[in-house]
Amino acid sequence: MIFLDAAATTPVRREVLEAMWPYLTGDFGNPSSRHSLGDSAARALADARKTVAAVLGCRPGEITFTSGGTEADNLAVKGIALARQAADPALNRVAISAVEHPAVEESARYLERFHGFTVDVVPVDGNGTVTPEALAAVLRDETALVSIMYANNEVGTVQPVAELAALAKGRGIPFHTDAVQAAGWLPLDVKALGVDALTISGHKLGAPKGNGVLFVRGRTRTEPLLHGGGQERGRRSGTENVAGAVALATALTLAHADRPALAARVTGLRDRFVAAVLDSVPGALLTGHPSERLPSVASFCFPGTSGESVLLELERQGVVCSSGSACAAGSDAPSPVLVALGIEAEVAQTAVRFSFDSSVTAADLEAAAAAVTAAVGSVRNLGLVAG
Ligand code: PLP
Repeated sequence: MIFLDAAATTPVRREVLEAMWPYLTGDFGNPSSRHSLGDSAARALADARKTVAAVLGCRPGEITFTSGGTEADNLAVKGIALARQAADPALNRVAISAVEHPAVEESARYLERFHGFTVDVVPVDGNGTVTPEALAAVLRDETALVSIMYANNEVGTVQPVAELAALAKGRGIPFHTDAVQAAGWLPLDVKALGVDALTISGHKLGAPKGNGVLFVRGRTRTEPLLHGGGQERGRRSGTENVAGAVALATALTLAHADRPALAARVTGLRDRFVAAVLDSVPGALLTGHPSERLPSVASFCFPGTSGESVLLELERQGVVCSSGSACAAGSDAPSPVLVALGIEAEVAQTAVRFSFDSSVTAADLEAAAAAVTAAVGSVRNLGLVAG
């Protein structure tokens, strides 16, 4: 099987499993316990926090471990917006892009439903890019928070985050970015990016599912979502997932150790794969930005097919990928991300996403390109169109 669905999830790396193993077995203490097992767990958690902070170029105290990217996004969007509204009730708007992951979009909608916020949705251009002009057009004195993702999970478009964050900063508005798909591929230095909050998820990087990180810059106040014993400096109560934090820190360090070389290698493979598919599949369209995109994502529409049928045909041929995002799988509606890019609903239903991890090879992608040509051809011959 050729696994080309790494944007959905990745297998746990051996080094990660080995690093977390002791904290699941012999060294199983609760970091709040005042005995040697507890001390050992607290030290492991502190080390994991330092390790993550080193990759992000921030202070360890600015890192909160969460149960995943979804929780980190919820904590950033709801936590920062609610803290700002509590300090100044006039701050009752949030700005998000039209291509956010549901974890951000639904958090903003929650603020709208229950806390009197207005959600300003920043449109994207045909490549899926949020331009500084488009963001500037929605910012108001009442904007409590801007949340715009670093890289999109469906089409891979990378946003000009540093420019967008600078714009928000110029108006004194905190800026959050969902870096779940960017982590491991793009620089994560939060000072260079100029962001006030940033989300990472462990399972996209070779750590187990259910681990995430939220960076929040020092003075940015965050209303907690989980109340209890006051762990994570009061930002996120609940006994800490020590093994998970160790796993995430290990996976993030490994991914970033050889990031520039890996990104260059995979970009080359991706470009050859994209060219091969566009050459050999009549009518194929690359979705997302042609160059400002994640090294790891190649996404297409194949008009005259249905994405689901192409997916099934590809799996029969040994290639596993995704039609749109895993989170929207099972839904018949066209992807809101593709619709936001101006792609017609009928064409959006023919979307297929290929996403790679560090183990991808040229041979995999050559075989996959041939499989795509055959799969699209046979779906078209059978007349398996969407709808
Ligand atoms: N944000 C983006 C861009 C994602 O792609 C995902 C997962 O697919 C998430 C957030 C949610 O992360 P998690 O699966 O860790 O909850």
